[in-house]
Amino acid sequence: MDQPSPQPRDSAQVARDYLQDFAVAMGGWFWETDAELRFTYFSPSVEDITGVPAEWHYGKTREDFSIPESVAPEVWEAHLECLRRREPFTDFVFQRRATDGVKWMRTSGLPVFDEAGEFQGYRGAASDITAEMEAKLASDRLINAIENLQELFVLWGPDDRLVVCNQGFREINAKVIETVQPGRLFEDHIRTAMAAGLYPGAAGQEEAWIQDRLERHRNPGAPYEMQRQDGRWIMLAEQRLPDGSTTTISTDITQRKRAEQALTEKHEILETALTTIPDGVQVLDSDLQLVAWNDRLFEVLELDRDAIIGTANPGQALRRALAEQGEDDVQTAIEAQEATARTSAPIQYEQRLASGKWMECRGHPIASGGYLAVYRDIDESKRLYDRLEYLATTDALTEVANRRSFLDRAEAEFDRAKRYHRNVSILMIDVDQFKTVNDQHGHAVGDDVLSCTAAACREALRDSDILGRVGGEEFAALLPEAGAETAHLVAERLRLAVAGLSIKGNGGAISASVSIGVSTAAKARGNLNEIMAEADEALYEAKRQGRNRVVHFSGSDMGVR
Ligand code: GH3
Ligand code: MG
Ligand code: MG
Repeated sequence: MDQPSPQPRDSAQVARDYLQDFAVAMGGWFWETDAELRFTYFSPSVEDITGVPAEWHYGKTREDFSIPESVAPEVWEAHLECLRRREPFTDFVFQRRATDGVKWMRTSGLPVFDEAGEFQGYRGAASDITAEMEAKLASDRLINAIENLQELFVLWGPDDRLVVCNQGFREINAKVIETVQPGRLFEDHIRTAMAAGLYPGAAGQEEAWIQDRLERHRNPGAPYEMQRQDGRWIMLAEQRLPDGSTTTISTDITQRKRAEQALTEKHEILETALTTIPDGVQVLDSDLQLVAWNDRLFEVLELDRDAIIGTANPGQALRRALAEQGEDDVQTAIEAQEATARTSAPIQYEQRLASGKWMECRGHPIASGGYLAVYRDIDESKRLYDRLEYLATTDALTEVANRRSFLDRAEAEFDRAKRYHRNVSILMIDVDQFKTVNDQHGHAVGDDVLSCTAAACREALRDSDILGRVGGEEFAALLPEAGAETAHLVAERLRLAVAGLSIKGNGGAISASVSIGVSTAAKARGNLNEIMAEADEALYEAKRQGRNRVVHFSGSDMGVR
């Protein structure tokens, strides 16, 4: 390998001095190689830039100090091929180590031939482009980041011409793709997009819309929403940068918009339901604050809506107003309501308002916290229910308990007496010769006799006694706490009361009488059926003995009388 030899100050040296000045002026250095591509010369400025003296390079090829890995293999291969062919190359970019780290370099070179056309080597110039490369890499990273934004991005320069935009923005403007190229004017873009029908919301007021859009673009304010032709919703956020550029970032908010719309519809449905249902509704949150209600709530509860809604804490005011309707201590009643509103299980109860009207409350805990209560005016239905119950249990003609109801109540009373070892007596009461009344005076008079008889019996009994019509002209009475003695006295009183009746018949007053069979279950002996059968037997005996009399069952304490 040739050692560098001191160069005489010849014309070549002068030329190198010039070149050195040029190289320094452009921030680089000048180099030469021999035919084997070994460096034979570096202008001294290489040391200022890389920290490595010029002489250090001599005898080495590029591969010895550049970093081949910094160049893509195909680029490196193409460079070698270019050198093999002795062709000039320009702007070959590579990395090399310098004292202060790895730097980016760019070099260009020309092959040198002697007069005989023999290849002598290359000479060329190189410069440090680290700053330029870093700026380019940073900008590449930015562009890449912008491309990968979820949002649609576009940057308009201070002259309102498009600088850069991303794929999302190009896609949404696919119909007017030529207007979203770098250099295109913002106004041209929106006018073309308008003509292509991309802004359906602008229909019928296109020019005003464009003016408005231009104004917003010039003076960006709060983000705003718009719908695109394909039905998608986007939110535009424009920002003016210090250099006068404008960024437009559009977010696709279609999903959020749809969810909002669905929510609004749901809300409207609920609102309609609340205002149309005949029940009062209150919804409390987990702090027992009233968060929803309907006007019907105050109608059902007979409360002054405005007086409650107008207060600072309507939920509390409502509980107080309700508590004041009851008979209990107000504070206690409020606390009871609060406890109810915090329960984790649904509840249902009926309550009477101050006016006496009945209402029903169904309370339901809300899964996410809070409590929903529905109040229903059940006054009407309660009255209806009472009426139905009366009709189902009462004999229409005599207005005493019907057979079924008598048996139910007597059964319950008999069980109670049996549990407490109390006496209980049964009277079986049958109108005498009733067929004759019907025959002589007609059915209507017969009915009168039945209802007068029932009334007389009722009159002769205590409130705690149970009286029922158990057959056509047959009644039964259960006397709680009555031993044979008492039962006899009651039966006699009853018999006499009927015998004393004077009922208006066809052509004058008519009288009636009853026969009564009695059986007593001292200490609640036997069961209801048996005791009634015994009383029936005694009744048969009373008929047999001539009617209008009281007969005790022979097996019971009193015997026949
Ligand atoms: P006894 O003294 O033996 O009881 O004779 P009686 O005529 O009362 O007895 P019977 O069983 O022969 O007749 C009962 C009659 O009661 C027959 C039936 O037509 C009549 N009857 C049953 N239910 C009614 C009713 O609701 N209204 C009227 N008017 N008559 C009724
Ligand atoms: Mg009879
Ligand atoms: Mg009879």
